[in-house]
Amino acid sequence: MSLTSERGAGRSFFVADLHLTDERPAATGRFFRFLQDEVAGADALYILGDLFEAWIGDDHDEQVARETAQRLAALVATGTPVYFMHGNRDFMLAERYAAQSGMTLLADPARIDLYGVPTLLMHGDTLCTDDTAYQDFRRRVRHPVTRALLRRLPRALRSRLARQARAGSEAAKAHKAAAIMDVNEAEVVRVMREHRVCRLIHGHTHRPAQHVHRVDGRECERWVVPDWYARWGYVACDANGCTLRTDAL
Ligand code: MN
Repeated sequence: MSLTSERGAGRSFFVADLHLTDERPAATGRFFRFLQDEVAGADALYILGDLFEAWIGDDHDEQVARETAQRLAALVATGTPVYFMHGNRDFMLAERYAAQSGMTLLADPARIDLYGVPTLLMHGDTLCTDDTAYQDFRRRVRHPVTRALLRRLPRALRSRLARQARAGSEAAKAHKAAAIMDVNEAEVVRVMREHRVCRLIHGHTHRPAQHVHRVDGRECERWVVPDWYARWGYVACDANGCTLRTDAL
């Protein structure tokens, strides 16, 4: 193997909130370069939700969906597993697209052993418990019965529903205080305790940072991965710990 294909060796990468769409080619190009230049040869890539701006079903018809499947499948073929957790934008992504792109679907939350450190992975929306209107909406649309019904609708109708949901979400966000849309600290501590971890990695809030939370007397880490709008970036972990990187797009 050449040196360039081993750049990610010994490291695992975590990304979320790429919101890929044909309408934002700069983010797509940056993601493909990231896969090639940094992730190639890595131990694993974890996509913690909202890989796509919208996903109406595995018949989703965008060039970026086809190209992303090809690029991820190529990465997996070279020995770097890719794990995908649903976000609130792409929760309709299912087995067919996962198989096409070589991705392994992860439940939210997922507890993994990361170089000997038990680590909890989440998209992050379930941590925003102060936003009760959103949590009610989430419970309804993510219900298995709702999802089964959605899958049976014609694609044009699913597209229209997705557009309406996004517009409704943007309108609602405009009237909500920023604090309501961030994670609830007590909920963070509760999930870390419940899953017996002292490290949590999530996305969704678009507030990249490393936080410290005191859980039963221990200082525990919470890593928030960046979105890929005006910037891009990731959290990378190895046997020595994690680092957060963000850069302008
Ligand atoms: Mn999200």
